[in-house]
Amino acid sequence: MKIHEFQAKEILQKFGVPVPSGKVATSPSDARSAAEELGGKVVVKAQIHAGGRGKGGGVKLAGDAGEAEQHASDILGMQLVTHQTGPEGQKVKQVLIEEATDIDRELYLGIVLDRATSKLVVMASQAGGMDIEQVAAETPEKILKETIDPAVGLQPFQARRLAFGMGLEGDAFKEGGRLIMALAKAFEATDSSLFEINPLVVTGDNHLIALDAKINFDDNALYLHKDLQELRDLDEEAALEVEASKYELNYIKLDGEVGCMVNGAGLAMATMDIIQYAGSSPANFLDVGGGTNVERVRNAFRILISDEDVKAVFINIFGGIVRCDRVAQGVVEALGDLEVNVPIIIRLQGTNAPEGATILKESGLEFTVAMELKEAAGAVVEAVKAA
Ligand code: GDP
Ligand code: MN
Repeated sequence: MKIHEFQAKEILQKFGVPVPSGKVATSPSDARSAAEELGGKVVVKAQIHAGGRGKGGGVKLAGDAGEAEQHASDILGMQLVTHQTGPEGQKVKQVLIEEATDIDRELYLGIVLDRATSKLVVMASQAGGMDIEQVAAETPEKILKETIDPAVGLQPFQARRLAFGMGLEGDAFKEGGRLIMALAKAFEATDSSLFEINPLVVTGDNHLIALDAKINFDDNALYLHKDLQELRDLDEEAALEVEASKYELNYIKLDGEVGCMVNGAGLAMATMDIIQYAGSSPANFLDVGGGTNVERVRNAFRILISDEDVKAVFINIFGGIVRCDRVAQGVVEALGDLEVNVPIIIRLQGTNAPEGATILKESGLEFTVAMELKEAAGAVVEAVKAA
């Protein structure tokens, strides 16, 4: 689960990480009064669940409260496009007004799970402020790493080694060691999957401050954290994905034209591949799961066809635990309730496949039924072309 920058900063502050004073505003006039409270010279920052806001025009410096109001009125309501939002961008509904920081240097600090070692790793770099992915790809030696031993946690000497490696001296060095330890503690306490402070700033008077903050929580641990669950902002998530999560469907919206309903993540991946191979592209990934029933199929189908990009629907079910006749029943019932104007291609294989085929045939509804995957994919692509 992702959260906003201002929420991440509130959490970090509780653990002793210094952040700039700031206030959230949802209107230009609120932004003006927040800027007045903070002394006039502020930064106006778009709050969306994506990075790269600076380059997209979502972070602006203001010299006084009037300018802050003007920036807020430009940014609020804009469709902010960054390299993480996709071409349609994300609508900005709130801005963070923060006292401006006197920046000497911009550093990078992050914590992620290293899947190769199954341990957390703290990463630090002097090359902060810009795309860290680019630094990692082109000059990996500029990224320092310390692995956290889960038995003992991050050790102070490791934190000091990173602080030294970032070129910190004097007060900033001392603060760096403490800040990195605090960050590791916050990460563990919140069961996070990603922390990113980019940039961590050395100020003109040699102190450290977290100028940006990104936190992702581990969804599998969220049930342990009622308080963190409340930070979820559904406006930032794709509407159909939110709807699908209500029914425990694994649904991910994609940008193609074939709506896919498949059981099992592996088969869903293979289905997406074969659609692509046959010359079209999937509009979504949808795994209806193993123990599916009529109700789930109905909901899945409804979500699938409410996507306007869908020009044809491909139902690809292998009946192992799930029975094909139940899936067929779900599809027929769903079609009874819903108005469907796109062609449907169904491939049922496995347990009770013949019974499933009979249900489809006797329903009087229009389907293309295919037995082989290749044949089915061909029919799907034909249908898309005809649409
Ligand atoms: P991101 O682009 O979404 O990662 O947003 P950031 O919070 O990292 O802001 C982008 C850039 O804006 C930073 O790298 C800074 O260079 C600049 N910036 C943000 N806050 C301040 C500030 O208080 N003073 C100055 N001078 N620049 C700032
Ligand atoms: Mn940033």
